[in-house]
Amino acid sequence: MGPLDFAPSAWMTPEIEEYRAQVRRFVAAEVVPHQQRWAEQHCVDRETWAKAGALGMLLSDVPAEYGGSDGTFAHQAVMLEELAAVGDTAFAIPVHAIVAKYILNQGTEAQKPRYLPPLASGEWVGAIAMTEPSGGSDLQGIRTRAERQGDHWVLNGAKTFISNGTLADLVIVVARTGSEPGAKGISLLLLETRGAQGFRVGRVLEKIGQKGQDTCELFFEDVRVPAENVLGGEAGRGFYQLMTELPYERTIIAVGAVVAIERAVRLTVEYARERQVFGKPLLAMQNTRFVLAAAKTQAVVARTFVDRCIEALIAGRMDAATASMAKLWTTDLQCTVIDDCLQLFGGYGYMLEYPIAQMYADARVQRIYGGANEIMKELIARSL
Ligand SMILES: Cc1cc2nc3c(=O)[nH]c(=O)nc-3n(C[C@H](O)[C@H](O)[C@H](O)COP(=O)(O)OP(=O)(O)OC[C@H]3O[C@@H](n4cnc5c(N)ncnc54)[C@H](O)[C@@H]3O)c2cc1C
Repeated sequence: MGPLDFAPSAWMTPEIEEYRAQVRRFVAAEVVPHQQRWAEQHCVDRETWAKAGALGMLLSDVPAEYGGSDGTFAHQAVMLEELAAVGDTAFAIPVHAIVAKYILNQGTEAQKPRYLPPLASGEWVGAIAMTEPSGGSDLQGIRTRAERQGDHWVLNGAKTFISNGTLADLVIVVARTGSEPGAKGISLLLLETRGAQGFRVGRVLEKIGQKGQDTCELFFEDVRVPAENVLGGEAGRGFYQLMTELPYERTIIAVGAVVAIERAVRLTVEYARERQVFGKPLLAMQNTRFVLAAAKTQAVVARTFVDRCIEALIAGRMDAATASMAKLWTTDLQCTVIDDCLQLFGGYGYMLEYPIAQMYADARVQRIYGGANEIMKELIARSL
């Protein structure tokens, strides 16, 4: 993407470059001016979704026949990069795009035209609910249950830490629909939340960072979901569907991580040039130069790897182990580099009015969600 003076990514064609300029204008006009207010209200404005949808920026990598913009993952990556480049963690387009991917890749021919167009226009916001109060890492241990009663599933249980939780019109709920233990009895249910009896959104959770995100709890008490709303039309395939689609989510997290690393280096170089210590610029100190030289090297190596991952996703050949490596390595690095950079800001680095402080708080969860980094190691180990 070129914030560092490094060769542009090979996937950046002139057409994608033009799209980036459009996205950058959108982010500058419709995201940046609202970031502070979103953080205070713990939620993005609904109309922002509609504005992005009207410009075709929500489901940019979904075919036009389903309301998408007929692009590739390169278009989606550009949107993620431009949001990360201004430090936005509120406007959870990534989660929305993940929901769309589940429907596009795993949905029935009836589910795709029903759900993708309203998600593309931003009329509907999407969420995915896997994690439960009793645990998120062990997906096979989920307790939310749906019993078949005639032509409906009756859903009971609770989810927590759900991004886009308060705004979501469509929630993909991971539920146990069969008596088989482990992976076999799990299904993904498409819950339309508007007017759903027995569905309740809990409180928005107080987080240490990502304050503008409406991460919250969801409760289901005898919620009736039409039988045909099992993703893919067949119960018991949920775990397989999760395993198939999670590499997309993990690559998305890695894209956000690498942009944050690049931004941290850029901001810190700027600051160290201006800040005077012992009568000279902070950047003149050998320690500063060495810390930033190492950070820049790591940023460039991370970018090179993530670019390969983006290319693999565009070509439809991203595998689970590589996506896990990308998520693991870039998010660990994001936390390390931001911490090293923050140190160079001294006390100002601890003040939220300095973006590096916000980045520090926002980064920490990257090692936890999308599968904790320990889980990434388990997944990578399976490929040994
Ligand atoms: C801001 C935020 C947004 C989120 N958004 C969503 C969302 O939209 N949808 C959703 O479903 N979930 C979401 N999550 C939940 C997130 O995915 C889970 O928090 C995560 O998967 C870990 O689950 P847990 O919190 O229950 O931790 P646990 O499963 O209790 O694990 C705790 C810790 O134990 C360790 N651990 C666990 N298993 C192993 C193992 N096998 N080997 C070694 N160590 C292990 C890890 O260090 C892990 O961090 C979000 C979380 C946050 C904080």
